[in-house]
Amino acid sequence: MTLTQRIIDQTEKFGAHNYHPLPIVIAKAEGAWVEDPEGNRYMDMLSAYSALNQGHRHPKIIQALKDQADKVTLTSRAFHSERLGEFYEKLVKLTGKSMILPMNTGAEAVETAVKAVRRWAYDVKKVQENMAEIIVCEGNFHGRTTTITSFSSDESYRRGFGPFTPGFKIIPYGDLEALKAAITPNTAAFLVEPIQGEAGIIIPREGFLKEAYETCKSQNVLFVADEIQTGFGRTGKLFASQWEGFTPDMYIMGKALGGGVFPISAVAADAEVLGVFEPGSHGSTFGGNPLGCAVAIAALDVIEEEKLVERSLELGTYFIEKLREINNPEIADIRGRGLFIGVELTKRARPYCEKLKELGLLCKETHETTIRFAPPLTIKQEELDWAIARIKQVLEVP
Ligand code: PLP
Repeated sequence: MTLTQRIIDQTEKFGAHNYHPLPIVIAKAEGAWVEDPEGNRYMDMLSAYSALNQGHRHPKIIQALKDQADKVTLTSRAFHSERLGEFYEKLVKLTGKSMILPMNTGAEAVETAVKAVRRWAYDVKKVQENMAEIIVCEGNFHGRTTTITSFSSDESYRRGFGPFTPGFKIIPYGDLEALKAAITPNTAAFLVEPIQGEAGIIIPREGFLKEAYETCKSQNVLFVADEIQTGFGRTGKLFASQWEGFTPDMYIMGKALGGGVFPISAVAADAEVLGVFEPGSHGSTFGGNPLGCAVAIAALDVIEEEKLVERSLELGTYFIEKLREINNPEIADIRGRGLFIGVELTKRARPYCEKLKELGLLCKETHETTIRFAPPLTIKQEELDWAIARIKQVLEVP
């Protein structure tokens, strides 16, 4: 039995089966490449759901991790740490917002956003206590906590997890009229992914996000962009909201903020909104810890220094062009922005992902029929060409 099989068997035997991974064990990784215990190399075209925008083990980020680990790793927020202010300042400059609140995972940052906008509704907008509403979209994916699951429209995310948290309204994604109709004097916020990642790289019609933002503005409703998957260059802009030239009232960030090295997430908004938290109202033992902050500062530096936003746009445009040359009537749609690309098929995508794996390319289906291609933004043109040749081999019909 191979070492890979032994590890998979052990994992399956003792772990809860809440994932269905491809049968590969990643034992080592660098840049866009990973290696299994037998020494077979694969290209990573998933990037841990966009948490690895900077590539695996970027040397600058790993160095920052090591340097900080040699000094102090955790203070809790009972005391100040050296790196937190620096992290805040950097993120304030990048987002154009005046305040940051750090957490660890994406779902925690979404929970933070939910709490912030509700409190803002009561304290600032003067909505009657316990009446605040948040509007979300069909097909959303914002995480796995019970509150977030409460406003999912996907039955497999919800079954058996009730009773759910009230206060959410679901509208069709990209439907401005539905948004207008859903807003009431009790609406605190519209929470939306600028591109729906887990739903299958769904891009709303052009203009929707900006119009939705303007609608929210005119009705005193906060526009909250969940940029956990789309942020930090993934779509060819620093944030996907920038495709439509507006700045949301709140950004929710995670994944690539930690450079694929350390979990760190954050919410950014102006003081009018994040100022609603006073000591004791919210927090996390590890939130904003020095190790996470040091890693995030380096991860953000890498995005700027290596022009990953520009690279994503340039290489993504090239990648989509090449994918569109593939002749296969089973391809229903090819869509994407930057290096965030979905190939939708008329049949199940999983067998194609399995074939690609056999050729050394790792990707994962999303929502049954879509293959998601999201390589590290540090990928080189030659590496991309290597991948395109294999994708053609699997998808092209003679
Ligand atoms: N929001 C979006 C848009 C996501 O894509 C994800 C994860 O895939 C999350 C939230 C949840 O993040 P986490 O898995 O870190 O809790």
